[in-house]
Amino acid sequence: MDPVTDNARAANEAARELRGTFRGDLILPQHERYETARRVWNASIDRYPGLIARCADTGDVIAALRAARRHGLEVAVRGGGHSIAGLGVADGAVTIDLSRMAAVQVDPDARRATVQAGSLLSGLDRETQRHGLAVTSGFVSHTGVAGLTLGGGFGWTARKHGLACDNLRSARVVLADGSSRVAGEEQDADLLWALRGGGGNFGIVTSFEFDLHAVGPMVTTGAAFYDLGNGRTVLEAFRELATEATDETTWAASVWDVEPGSSLPEEYHGKPVVSLVFVHIGDVEQGVALGRQLRRLARPLAETVGPVPYLEVQSSNDTAWSHGVRRYWKSHYLWELPDAAIETFLARGAATPADRPAVAGSLQARGGAIGRTGEDDSAVGHRGAPFEFMASTGWNDPGEDDSRRSGVRTFADQMARFGRGVYVNNLDLEGEDRVRDAYGAQKYRRLAALKARFDPDNVFHLNQNIRPAT
Ligand code: FAD
Repeated sequence: MDPVTDNARAANEAARELRGTFRGDLILPQHERYETARRVWNASIDRYPGLIARCADTGDVIAALRAARRHGLEVAVRGGGHSIAGLGVADGAVTIDLSRMAAVQVDPDARRATVQAGSLLSGLDRETQRHGLAVTSGFVSHTGVAGLTLGGGFGWTARKHGLACDNLRSARVVLADGSSRVAGEEQDADLLWALRGGGGNFGIVTSFEFDLHAVGPMVTTGAAFYDLGNGRTVLEAFRELATEATDETTWAASVWDVEPGSSLPEEYHGKPVVSLVFVHIGDVEQGVALGRQLRRLARPLAETVGPVPYLEVQSSNDTAWSHGVRRYWKSHYLWELPDAAIETFLARGAATPADRPAVAGSLQARGGAIGRTGEDDSAVGHRGAPFEFMASTGWNDPGEDDSRRSGVRTFADQMARFGRGVYVNNLDLEGEDRVRDAYGAQKYRRLAALKARFDPDNVFHLNQNIRPAT
């Protein structure tokens, strides 16, 4: 018996049974679109699903799930395909691909959006902004609404309006047994609680209903770039500005190597710089005033401050975080930012400047409404953390895989002594203990009990897995 051949046979059989009633696309390995359909955002993921079931509606999702289970095939669920671990694809599995289900409907009077689970943030932001509204979404517009929301969902409006999942009013879910239901505050409130941060563990969401808020259309952004020699001053200022900011303002700081071709002065190409950015979603004049802080700290190498359409801000990182690049990252929540953490951050894991790895570091301010929402109100862990740290790298040559990953690990391990807990959406495949770290012991226990209720056989295990309580 050859398990690979058996698996391929089972996938073929599942597709054969689905054909005829399935409204979407059934993509087997011999299909001309298989090669592109199996690719995800992180180019270092190279997996071969047995069948990609690109669903057109909830009926397709139910049928594909049932067929996979009948034939003993593993089930992977793909929203936007953006998870760093490439969780939407797995060798031999049936990928339930939601990318065709991307409709967004907005009711401006009720300030509600109904969003199909294959939508990307770009679609959600575009449709809501047509009415001057928004719900918190992330920094890169080609990320999936589904994975982002189910893990929490942080973005520039979160300090004011909460995480994406805090604005989730209800969700249509297909459970492991193939039944479908709507989880809301009135019915299946436990399930809704688990979907607000518990990831893809509890079922396949086919649509989300969100509360919306007035945002934009113009917001103010500021960005300044400094010589690494000013790094300490800039990071100390970041600590203060981020801590004292009103809910309308979110700050972030980074250290990274300037790419050749950058618009920064040529003598800095290939050299490290520090940057400080903010987005202010309140009064534009107040935002512009905040921008003056950027010049007071130190002389920037370059600086931009001014009003920008919210939609432009939402897609401003799309190229830097494009598809088709090999990626690796590791992150921690930081509960304070002592001087020693700033020094470690600026050194990026290098013993000497000559050893400096090609790794970027970022510090993202959280707080505001995120921290004010009760820790027990959702599955999201560590709401009180004021900062999130991330070490990341992107490269093209597979020969650099080991050195790039080890550079990130060294940097992240050194920062770990200042951290506690991790954002589940930024986890790679880092083991069960790190999934527990994302929730804390008490919350993990509650999630495991709900997992035992909604998915006792752990059908949905190709994710940041919460094991069913026994
Ligand atoms: P996928 O890989 O398709 O799915 C991720 C997980 O969700 C998988 O476990 C999958 O099985 C599960 N899943 C997907 N769809 C469903 C569904 N319909 N039902 C049940 N389970 C499902 N996060 C933030 O909070 N804020 C950010 O600003 C942000 N920026 C990012 C930028 C980049 C470039 C990247 C790569 C990630 C970013 N993230 C951010 C993290 C992001 O939220 C997660 O990677 C998220 O998992 C992506 O969701 P997806 O649907 O695109 O990914």
